[in-house]
Amino acid sequence: MKTFQAPIIFLDHDGVICLRGNWGSRFKKAQRWAKEHDISLAGFYERPDLPVGILFDDFDQKAVKVLNGIINETGADIIVSSDWRLQADLPALQRFYLEQGVIKGPIGMTGICRDAQFEEARVKEIQGWLEQSPRPNWVAVDDMDLSALGRFVHTPRSSEGIKQSGVAEKIIRLLKEP
Ligand SMILES: [Mg+2]
Repeated sequence: MKTFQAPIIFLDHDGVICLRGNWGSRFKKAQRWAKEHDISLAGFYERPDLPVGILFDDFDQKAVKVLNGIINETGADIIVSSDWRLQADLPALQRFYLEQGVIKGPIGMTGICRDAQFEEARVKEIQGWLEQSPRPNWVAVDDMDLSALGRFVHTPRSSEGIKQSGVAEKIIRLLKEP
């Protein structure tokens, strides 16, 4: 019997599910939290007791709905390819996803490629993950151009990201087609 291997979405955050209108929202959350706890903002981000919810900008709630629709329809798992993975470990990102309303936290993150930059690095990071755990069905979603990967959906509009018309359909098609 063939076991089901969930398809994989390599997911970027900024410009995909954290949109232009959300950028900087972490600072307002930090200010509010500091005020509530009566602590100073000096050295704020070095504090070990910060809740993950205030470390990052919020996800766009409509983008979260679109992502949840894709997960529901395909059973896909998420691997974080966003640079946010450099600022938090996987359990923290999982908590953040759930707090933001995503129905499933990510199951992993891509590694870090140090001998390339920008698009080239991200392409290599995703290819590296797939070499370790080959899957027939996967797609990368990013506002950078990762078309070198082949199985790729671009979200070039930072105010729309994954909400842009036609994007969810393309992602679903690639997740269903080996
Ligand atoms: Mg991005």
